[in-house]
Amino acid sequence: MDVPNYGPSAPPFQPGYPMNPAMPLGPPYPPAMNPAVAPGYYPTVTTDALGPHVAPYPQFTGIPGYEGLAGDSNDGKFLPPPPAFGQEPSNVPDPTNKDWTIPSINNETAKQALLDYANAQCCYGSSPAEEMEITQLRPYNTYRYRLETFTESRSCEWVTKPVTGDAIDSPEKGPAPQPWEIQVKPPSLFHDETRKLPVPHTTSKKSCQECNGKGKIICQKCNGNSRVKCNDCNGSGKRSGEECMNCSGTGSVGCKTCNQTNVQTCPACAGKGQVMNFIELTVTWKNNLYEFIPDHHSEFPTELFQKVTGEKLYADEQLLVPPIMNFPEPSINQTSQTAVQQHYSKFISTCRILKQRQTIELLPLSQVEYSWKGNNCSYFVYGRENKVETKDYPSTCCCVIQ
Ligand SMILES: [Zn+2]
Ligand SMILES: [Zn+2]
Ligand SMILES: [Zn+2]
Repeated sequence: MDVPNYGPSAPPFQPGYPMNPAMPLGPPYPPAMNPAVAPGYYPTVTTDALGPHVAPYPQFTGIPGYEGLAGDSNDGKFLPPPPAFGQEPSNVPDPTNKDWTIPSINNETAKQALLDYANAQCCYGSSPAEEMEITQLRPYNTYRYRLETFTESRSCEWVTKPVTGDAIDSPEKGPAPQPWEIQVKPPSLFHDETRKLPVPHTTSKKSCQECNGKGKIICQKCNGNSRVKCNDCNGSGKRSGEECMNCSGTGSVGCKTCNQTNVQTCPACAGKGQVMNFIELTVTWKNNLYEFIPDHHSEFPTELFQKVTGEKLYADEQLLVPPIMNFPEPSINQTSQTAVQQHYSKFISTCRILKQRQTIELLPLSQVEYSWKGNNCSYFVYGRENKVETKDYPSTCCCVIQ
């Protein structure tokens, strides 16, 4: 059996590293007094090879139900739920909310909203809001429809991690459960979360391939050379014609990564020399949102509704919600039909749908026209918070007497 020949067989030639024998250079390379860091004893690992392995160690690919995970490709990683989880939308009767009362604000509320708005701006005068005459109040109330579909998806991949003190849950302990058979308690509904856990009975302990089980590799920074290029002079030993102070003209400094020991802890096994190879299950919960606000036929910028809440008119929460059919605003009914259908066909084959929620909010929106000292101006009052949006408030600086 031949010993793998990793590290350099001779000190690598480093151009631009003039060594000054008069300088204290740290241990020479190779350090003859220390056989543990002699060349070839610790493997040299390219940075690309570090980090967790995606592919399994060769002899552990035969776990029933997980064969597709072998190799470097991600084929088989994606795990659609078994058909047993697919459900048909139930034909629950349509929401029979007959009383769709749509409130509207009055002049007093409209005036107060503008006054609050003016007072909240650092230098707006409040006199227009106090003295104005409301000439017209037009409601443009609209709605916000939301469908939320809370889904769970699962994927698996082989991973390699440093050994822990825990007992190894090996394939000899029993057959590995299939991905969707593993019990995982979902987090609170409609909140995104990701959890990772090992698939039971898939773990094996192996000698670390990166360091040949030694727990250390040749220092990646200095390549086992104890010294690295001086950054101050870029390895030249000179700065503006003078000898570089940082490296005393040598062009190199002692390697801080390995403290000039030439070796570093193996990142793949965290210095333990052994790794665990197992299938890791990733469970992802996601709240998928479909949102729609019908056209309100006003100049109000719709995106401002994101900052406010509305009056809850309707809420339905169940495994699969039926589309809304009889809402007074037809575009809500159409959208509900589309949204329910779209979410169902999008998620049912790739995820488990855990819950759906459908809501309609009334978004209060009124345009107020008023006159103040002969000026005709207008503003919008919107949301339950009675926020104000205006472009022509007549007193935007309190320092100017209007
Ligand atoms: Zn080093
Ligand atoms: Zn230097
Ligand atoms: Zn290692």
